[in-house]
Amino acid sequence: MSFSVAIVGRPNVGKSTLFNRLAGQRLALVDDTPGVTRDRRPAEAKLVDLTFRIIDTAGLEESGPDTLQGRMRAQTEAAIDEADMALFVVDAKSGLTPLDGTLAELLRRYGKPVVLVANKAEARGAEAGLYDAYTLGLGEPCPISAEHGEGMLDLRDAIVAALGGEDALVAVADEAASDVDVRDGAGEDATQPVAGDGVAGSAEDAEEPESVDDPEKPMRIAVVGRPNAGKSTLINRMLGEERLLTGPEAGITRDSIAVDLAWQGRAIRLFDTAGLRRKARVQEKLEKLSVADALRAIRFAEVVVVVLDATMPFERQDLQIVDLVVREGRAAVIVFNKWDMVDDRQAMLSDLRERTERLLPQVRGIRAVPISGLTGDGLGRMMKAVSETHAVWNRRISTAKLNRWLEEAQTRHPPPAVSGRRINLKYMTQIKARPPGFVLSTSRPEALPAAYTRYLVNGLRTAFDLPGVPIRLSLRKGD
Ligand code: GDP
Ligand code: GDP
Repeated sequence: MSFSVAIVGRPNVGKSTLFNRLAGQRLALVDDTPGVTRDRRPAEAKLVDLTFRIIDTAGLEESGPDTLQGRMRAQTEAAIDEADMALFVVDAKSGLTPLDGTLAELLRRYGKPVVLVANKAEARGAEAGLYDAYTLGLGEPCPISAEHGEGMLDLRDAIVAALGGEDALVAVADEAASDVDVRDGAGEDATQPVAGDGVAGSAEDAEEPESVDDPEKPMRIAVVGRPNAGKSTLINRMLGEERLLTGPEAGITRDSIAVDLAWQGRAIRLFDTAGLRRKARVQEKLEKLSVADALRAIRFAEVVVVVLDATMPFERQDLQIVDLVVREGRAAVIVFNKWDMVDDRQAMLSDLRERTERLLPQVRGIRAVPISGLTGDGLGRMMKAVSETHAVWNRRISTAKLNRWLEEAQTRHPPPAVSGRRINLKYMTQIKARPPGFVLSTSRPEALPAAYTRYLVNGLRTAFDLPGVPIRLSLRKGD
């Protein structure tokens, strides 16, 4: 047993439904009417490549409203005591209630890792509830639909992040190697062929789709950059010039988050960098980069446009921002803004592109486009780069192709022998997109040198044309 997770939340948010989905069995009773008595019982859960123990607290609220809080609190405390971390479930459809606030407070005081789960996210109107959830002070909510099984890959990532990242988990996976089976994933992409099938070649014709980009869904974009880089100017230009469409989505109100527009027929949801337009209006300048604001924007987005001032490019903060984007797993496009002020454009551009490659090796091949937010020049090319990068970020590569490539990569450069023993690379599979994430199964994950992992990541990037996006590679022990 690797780790244990308590599922907590007020009545009717969908805890039992989530419990059932993770347990893969109809263990808990789902009922519309709160008050069905259930016990706190553990079950074995599977989520993509993770296995863990889940502890449910659903249904212990049968008494009257007076004691509800008290009972919820006692139950929640008991579950958290027992668990390594908590999934705190809220209902994005019906929104927050004071009880959610009380439980959030309790969880914060406990200090155990918490993933905030915004359930029923598929429901109409759930977006408002989703953004409300930010106010609970438990970080970014992870939108899911327990009922429809949506968002399970993101939930997996959020759990991994809460536990300290893939590295922390590799140690866990070693411990529990026999439990881990990436081929038996739950959730949306449980259909990958196993390596054996793939390498044998027979799965060639049955490959999964290479890309899951859905042009119907709005592409979420945020514009970030240092103060004065030109973010407001660029956003205003995009909004003004480009055909504001579905109307500002609650555009100017205080809690507005996003503006919908269409760009050459493509639906876009643009993060309205908090207070940005308000700020521009009152001519007030914040000179400091707010990391919290930047993070909020980055987490909202699928593709982040990082605005650099071409007359003062690559300051420390610029690199910091790109780093944040990479850490959050988002795709990025760089724009060199204020291009109208640049004289020797040809020389400048090749200089800037050279520096981009040198200073940002973690996103090799990132698209970098000169623009002027002021005149609107280059915006077409910028949007093309955004849309292409979005497609790369969404790309899925078949297990068959990956393993054919892995064999070649291994032949060209076999992994070194460590302490006199060979390291066998078994097989590789893509467990997620957005950004692309791969698992490599090997005989000795702990011994594989970082330089070799880098060789593989760079190779993946080149072989499968994945420029400019973060690539995650985790190692699992496999015999
Ligand atoms: P619990 O009291 O927190 O355990 O909540 P339940 O799992 O019993 O769910 C309460 C209600 O919400 C049930 O009617 C479920 O069918 C419904 N529900 C659960 N998950 C979802 C979801 O993802 N989307 C929607 N629309 N409804 C859900
Ligand atoms: P923000 O702090 O990143 O939102 O930056 P602003 O959009 O407020 O722009 C900062 C300053 O740079 C303002 O004086 C803008 O007029 C100017 N600026 C922004 N974009 C451009 C551009 O493309 N060309 C030129 N010449 N000036 C620009």
